Formats: sequence, structure tokens, C-alpha cells
Amino acid sequence: MRHLYLNGAWQPSASSERIDVINPATEEVLDTVPAGAPADVEAAVAAARAALPSWSRTSPAERGKVLAAAAELIRERSDQIARIIATDMGAPYGVAMRVQTLMPAGVLASYAQLAETYDFEGGQVGNSRIFREPVGVVAAITPWNYPLHQIVCKVGAALAAGCTVVLKPSEVAPLAAFALAGVLDEVGLPPGVFNMISGYGPGVGEALVAHPGVDMVSFTGSTAAGRRVAALAAETIKRVALELGGKSASVILPDADLGTAAKVTVANAFLNSGQTCSAWTRMIVHRDRYDEAVRLAVEAARRYTVGDPFDEATRLGPLVSAAQRDRVVRYINRGQEEGARLVTGGGDRPLERGFYVEPTVFAGVEPGMVIEQEEIFGPVLTIIPYSRGEDEAVAIANGTPYGLAGAVWAGDEQRAVEVARRLRTGQVAVNGGQFNPRAPFGGYKQSGLGRELGEFGLEEYLEIKAVQL
Ligand code: NAD
Repeated sequence: MRHLYLNGAWQPSASSERIDVINPATEEVLDTVPAGAPADVEAAVAAARAALPSWSRTSPAERGKVLAAAAELIRERSDQIARIIATDMGAPYGVAMRVQTLMPAGVLASYAQLAETYDFEGGQVGNSRIFREPVGVVAAITPWNYPLHQIVCKVGAALAAGCTVVLKPSEVAPLAAFALAGVLDEVGLPPGVFNMISGYGPGVGEALVAHPGVDMVSFTGSTAAGRRVAALAAETIKRVALELGGKSASVILPDADLGTAAKVTVANAFLNSGQTCSAWTRMIVHRDRYDEAVRLAVEAARRYTVGDPFDEATRLGPLVSAAQRDRVVRYINRGQEEGARLVTGGGDRPLERGFYVEPTVFAGVEPGMVIEQEEIFGPVLTIIPYSRGEDEAVAIANGTPYGLAGAVWAGDEQRAVEVARRLRTGQVAVNGGQFNPRAPFGGYKQSGLGRELGEFGLEEYLEIKAVQL
């Protein structure tokens, strides 16, 4: 039976309540994890506080060594971990391996390296020496869509900085967190430096956020829950980092290579069954090329074979849960009611069992429609025409409360960069520029506060001290 990871050991929860973990491809219960309790939060925070003085004084190189060993162990176990993720959240095995397992191993390795190279002590401003010191005890709260990656972005940076951590993974797909706790246990992290409590947001999550022994909360999840977390954390003036939702735009200028732009936008929108915070779910195309763009997007979308995550032909696995499937179906119905044109997909039960939704494309989408404004978090692409120049395209792209990611496509790269600069969003890919796991990742507007990954991500977990001489 699975237990919590507290103070360097697997320990039973104070509560006997369990959470069922469901395989979204079969709809069967595949495991159970503890639901956690406030008493577990007390124990975890006490362990993290007790471990802080000595861990924060270890040399960064020493911390780097532990993180490098953890990255290596994840790589060694990549098949096992990818299988866990394909089974409990439904990503096709290839995606579970490449994006959900090897990428986080790489992120952890990058933090191992940064711990060794980052200048924690060398700053100087006039007669002041500048030191960068760990914030303290960090509560990390993570979602289910990239269950290992979202954890590693926080835990890798926090441990490299010299912080200690209490992790509360998502209750929906928690098994990757158990695998990571096993890895960190094996590489000999001192007791209390990393602790993990599985459980629900309102119970365990809120108890952690409110706890006076926690110095910082790093949260990834929905904007609604992030708002609640920020409000609760304000009571004790905690530092808060928020990675929230998105509704990102792929802006296609008239001189772009439309074939590539449409194909890559569909691939980005449908990655992980559309359950990606940074997904480009709004394709914004000039009217002169609109019909051609719709045809290309439909062709690309129809190539997304829906099926079992372990079937090699599968490009689109199930959504993570029945609730998520139902939410996506509600949005598909809403889009039709609003007058958008369903040009492919829309079916919600393409297979006999499993929480599947067909790859879906809406054309004739107007700015302001609900399916154009709200995060759907499923394989649903909306295509929005613009008739005037770039200003209109930029206004549509910027016209939601979110600002996480985006894309610009143009024949003239310099012009594309200029448009990219006008998007109120944390990341933009120009003409399909590759995702860079060391580049700062995070949101403008209601997509969040702060940045993860690389040096900017590390600095989220550092306080700044000036010593005058
Ligand atoms: P969610 O907000 O429901 O849950 C996220 C985590 O927060 C879970 O661990 C949950 O238990 C916890 N939680 C929920 N309510 C809480 C509360 N009141 N106090 C403390 N903790 C609470 O989100 P989800 O459904 O798991 O994930 C999907 C959402 O995450 C999407 O909106 C997506 O865009 C967002 N996301 C953002 C990023 C990013 O980097 N910006 C990355 C991945 C996912």
C-alpha cells in the first residue's frame, strides 16, 4: 500500500481516507493513494524546517551532485516512469517517454549544472556585497497534465537553491510523484529535504499554503485555484509563484508558409490531447488565406488517430478523467450554440471505453465567443479570421485574460519578431522555433506570476541580501 514520503521515509497518513487513481483508457481503478490530512502537513513542514539549516548551508556543488544523480536515475528508469504516466494520465507512450519523462530528466540535469555554475555570492553594488540565499521551506502544488515535469520545474530549482520542499501533487494523476519520491530517496537526499503528501487541494493544499512554517508557495494549476492560493498566502505574506492557465494564439501573417504553420499549430494544440497550458488553441489567419488554412488544419487534425496510449498508431490518448471529458464536450456544444462551425470531430465517445474525445476543429470563430476566450483543455482548435492588418491580429491574440505562450508565422522573420514583441505573453515561437527547456517559462496577465526553468527559474527560490562594508 502506498504511503506518504515524510522526513526521509515512507509513512502512513494520519487519515485512512484513500484516493482512487483511474486509468483513463480503461476507466478502471489502477491504484489508490492516501488522501492526506492536516496532521500530515504539520509533520511534513516540521521535517522541512528542521532540515533547512543544514541543507541550505551545503555547497551548491554538493546539491548539484544529488540532482544529477536523480536525473540519471530517472533516465535509467525512463521506461517504467513513462509507463506510469501513460497509464495514470493517458499520454501516448511516445509522448509520455519523450515529453513527460526524458524532458523532466533533462530539466533536473540542467538544475544540477546551474547549482554548480550560478554565482550565489559574487554580487557587488558599491560598498555592498550581494548574497543570494534560499527562500526557505517551499510548498510545491502541481497539476496532472505533465505530472513529473511540473514537479521537477519546482523541486529541481528549489533544491538547487538550497530550499527544502513539501510537495502536494495532483490527486488526479499522482503516481509519477511517487516515482520521483522513490528516486530522491535512493539518491540519498537527507531526511526532511523533500517531503510528499498526496491529497486534495482544499484539504492538504490549503493547509500547506496557510501554514506559517512555509516561506513560499509555488503553484501550477488553474487560474481559479491560483487566485485562491494567492489570497490565502497573503495572510502570512508568503512569496507566491503561479503558473496558471492559457489560451494561446498562433498568429499567421499572409506571407507565411501556411502548410507548415497549420500543421505545427494543430500538433501543438493537440499535444497531450490538448491538455497543455501553453497550447496554441487559437489559430488567427488572414481572410485571404482563411479557407486554405481551415482545409489544411482539418487534414492535419484527421491524422490524429485516437486510441490506447500503448498502441503505436495512437496520436491522441484519452483525456485524464470523465470530468475533463465532460468539460470538453460542454465547450464543444457551446461552440456550436454560439454559431461557430464544427469542421471536424466533436464526437465524445469514439471508442467503447475510455475518456476519449475526437480531434476537433472549429472555423468561423469570432473574438469574444466563449470557446475563443476560455481554456478548454482538450483537443479543440479554434480558427479565427482577421481582415485588416497586423494590428487586428495582435489585438485578437491579446484579447483574452491569459498570456502564457504563442506563435507567429511570417515569411519575413524580422517582421515576425516585431509581432512577437507585441504579444502580451511569456513565450512566443517564431516560425516553429523549438521549445527551449532552459528559457524562462511563465505568464503575463492571468496566466501567472514569475518564471520557471533555467536561471530565471532558480532565482524564484532565492532571497537577495545586501551586506554593507
Ligand atoms: P487545478 O487548479 O484543479 O489543480 C492544480 C493543483 O492545485 C492540484 O494539486 C490541486 O489539488 C491543487 N488545488 C486545487 N485547489 C486548491 C486550493 N484551493 N488550494 C491549494 N491547492 C489547490 O488544476 P488541474 O486541473 O490539476 O490542472 C489543469 C490546469 O493547470 C489548467 O488550467 C492548466 O492550464 C494549468 N497548468 C498551467 C501550467 C503553467 O505552467 N502555466 C502548466 C500546467 C498546467
